[in-house]
Amino acid sequence: MGVELKNVVKRYRDKLAVDNISLRIEDGEIFGLLGPNGAGKSTTIKMIMGLLDQNSGKIKINNMDVAKKSLDVRKILGLVPQELAIYEDLTAKENLEFFAKLYGLRGKELKEKVNEALEFTKLTENKNEKIKRFSGGMKRRLNIACAITHNPEIIIMDEPTVGIDPQSRNHILQSVKELNKRGSTVIYTSHYMQEVEEICDRVGIIDHGKLIGLGTNEELKSQLSEEERLVIDVMNMKFNLLEEIRNLNGVINVIQNKDSLEILTKKAQQIMQDVLFILSKEDVKVSNISLQQPNLESVFLSLTGRNLRD
Ligand code: ADP
Ligand code: MG
Repeated sequence: MGVELKNVVKRYRDKLAVDNISLRIEDGEIFGLLGPNGAGKSTTIKMIMGLLDQNSGKIKINNMDVAKKSLDVRKILGLVPQELAIYEDLTAKENLEFFAKLYGLRGKELKEKVNEALEFTKLTENKNEKIKRFSGGMKRRLNIACAITHNPEIIIMDEPTVGIDPQSRNHILQSVKELNKRGSTVIYTSHYMQEVEEICDRVGIIDHGKLIGLGTNEELKSQLSEEERLVIDVMNMKFNLLEEIRNLNGVINVIQNKDSLEILTKKAQQIMQDVLFILSKEDVKVSNISLQQPNLESVFLSLTGRNLRD
């Protein structure tokens, strides 16, 4: 049971978008697919949905081959696509009815399910309004409602929180947990490390089409057991110093944020002196220094040498 990918490869002409991914998503979990833009998340999702054919490899859902595109597989799945898939000229209710019909709902059941989905996404009051008047957050919520009217066993959400206000984002994250509590397996893609860390039971880290990390948050972070994250708040940072810090013995990697440097190292105490010396040479002002626990961002940095946020 669950979702199984075996050696899945997808090329767009000469671009290798998904590079031999194998993984298994168990029934009942919230699985996060975390990776930067262009990593191959949406391509992977589209193949799981049967909307795009892989070049090689197999994808099975509850032991059924997705490539056979049977209605049985379709009905198990609900997709919240990255690009909004709702009709601006229809009302919220009309949009939901349209999708419910696609999934084979009719009559009384259709009405009930549409009302439930409106209620769940807190759009009942707005059900007769046309979508073009909706805020970005309301559109995102309706996009979710459309995917859940038919009570799918597996809900796939592709970056459902991009470009919305914090309140709508919170609402969406809470709904993911609630849908999971009610029994749905959730596959959730994001390039926001905090979201994935907050809601997912298990995480796959994807970069350049490759699955480079897989496990619970704790398992992923325990790979960094000896590594520490030294965060130095700076003013007027000089970029030429970055390379010098990166080359210090013991520095695994450095991220330059707007007002801080994050240094991944196994020797924080020792490195601190060297870094402060380098910064002082060019009069970079340091306002705070702290040692922080590694997070999924550190895991990504350690695996790729790059910042997830770039
Ligand atoms: P993500 O969802 O993680 O941002 P995508 O799966 O959308 O990544 O894209 C993976 C890679 O494939 C990117 O380099 C992207 O530019 C490329 N790509 C995606 N869709 C197409 C397409 N239809 N034709 C050609 N290249 C594509
Ligand atoms: Mg995408």
